[in-house]
Amino acid sequence: MLWLPLGPFHAMENQMLVIRIKIPNSGAVDWTVHSGPQLLFRDVLDVIGQVLPEATTTAFEYEDEDGDRITVRSDEEMKAMLSYYYSTVMEQQVNGQLIEPLLIFPRACKPPGERNIHGLKVNTRAGPSQHSGPAVSDSLPSNSLKKSSAELKKILANGQMNEQDIRYRDTLGHGNGGTVYKAYHVPSGKILAVKVILLDITLELQKQIMSELEILYKCDSSYIIGFYGAFFVENRISICTEFMDGGSLDVYRKIPEHVLGRIAVAVVKGLTYLWSLKILHRDVKPSNMLVNTRGQVKLCDFGVSTQLVNSIAKTYVGTNAYMAPERISGEQYGIHSDVWSLGISFMELALGRFPYPQIQKNQGSLMPLQLLQCIVDEDSPVLPVGEFSEPFVHFITQCMRKQPKERPAPEELMISTAGANSDPFSLTL
Ligand code: ATP
Ligand code: MG
Repeated sequence: MLWLPLGPFHAMENQMLVIRIKIPNSGAVDWTVHSGPQLLFRDVLDVIGQVLPEATTTAFEYEDEDGDRITVRSDEEMKAMLSYYYSTVMEQQVNGQLIEPLLIFPRACKPPGERNIHGLKVNTRAGPSQHSGPAVSDSLPSNSLKKSSAELKKILANGQMNEQDIRYRDTLGHGNGGTVYKAYHVPSGKILAVKVILLDITLELQKQIMSELEILYKCDSSYIIGFYGAFFVENRISICTEFMDGGSLDVYRKIPEHVLGRIAVAVVKGLTYLWSLKILHRDVKPSNMLVNTRGQVKLCDFGVSTQLVNSIAKTYVGTNAYMAPERISGEQYGIHSDVWSLGISFMELALGRFPYPQIQKNQGSLMPLQLLQCIVDEDSPVLPVGEFSEPFVHFITQCMRKQPKERPAPEELMISTAGANSDPFSLTL
């Protein structure tokens, strides 16, 4: 491989870069990038995601001078690719040739049927298997494979969670830090939600994250998503949790107040449980409140691993629009900051839009810091009293006090939501 001396590489920094994304069995799409060398791996995956929305792309390849395909899975590998590409551009320039775009080949996740890396024969009929490997059904598990959730938890908590046993099915959604898949766990016959996050970190940090996640095995609350295990493969971590068939609240748009009251009971109980374990949620927002057709509401994506939170923050820059003003200003973070996020989330769910009209959330909740400055500078928004009950308006107003200490303490939150009829919830999904 040709390595470019530092000078010319820097001279190219301001040049436009054209990336040609090859579409499997079809043509290609050209993407003009104005800040080539600053480009992140994640940016490329995002654009590939727009070009190939059906596929789940986790990496891509380019060809070196010998025509060998080289995989790119991280920012480091991106840099190597760009360095190589710019060296070829230099050569083309020197030889007076036309500059060729940078050709990349998206590498999609294999569909579930091709993921059987153990070569197990798939038995699609119920009954004992004729094959040497364990019998697995590709559709729903047969009765003999059904396990109680207690049993399942035991198996999974025993460190038996690994990539080979998981068949990825649909993509449930993309977040700022990763992609969530609906997946089938072969040994237990259980449907799971698996969040896959690409992280370029050292082995040491990987170990630290795994040990920080251990506390999740101990979390036992019906208001917190069940945790089944986590593992690293190459530069990505997979976090396996309970699948919630109703998805997250962000997709429900405007939710009536009487239903919100019931949801609030569950969310406050979930938060109080976490706080009792000295865990701050740090990412309370509608997309982290999940529901199922049993009418349960559970919290997910809480910041149990500082290292994981930090590593994600390093890769995916931006500020969360649900963050409390003190957090946007970079001040200390505490339970009160979770309470703000609770208030703003419920206000959004009640209004059916983000409470600050000047903040347009297009995709996801990460925004440039400057756009969120109004949360710090302006008075908090208030729900229109005529449209909502006085206690509900009061609840939100208290949670969204600018001064953290003026926000309700956990006990007060429990009291103010106690009026709402608790379990079982009868949400119409
Ligand atoms: P962030 O990355 O900041 O948490 P997010 O919550 O929007 O943002 P993800 O956590 O990656 O993104 O989740 C993406 C989507 O996957 C969610 O919006 C939700 O609809 C779905 N999802 C996540 N976890 C589960 C689960 N356990 N069961 C069912 N759907 C889930
Ligand atoms: Mg989430």
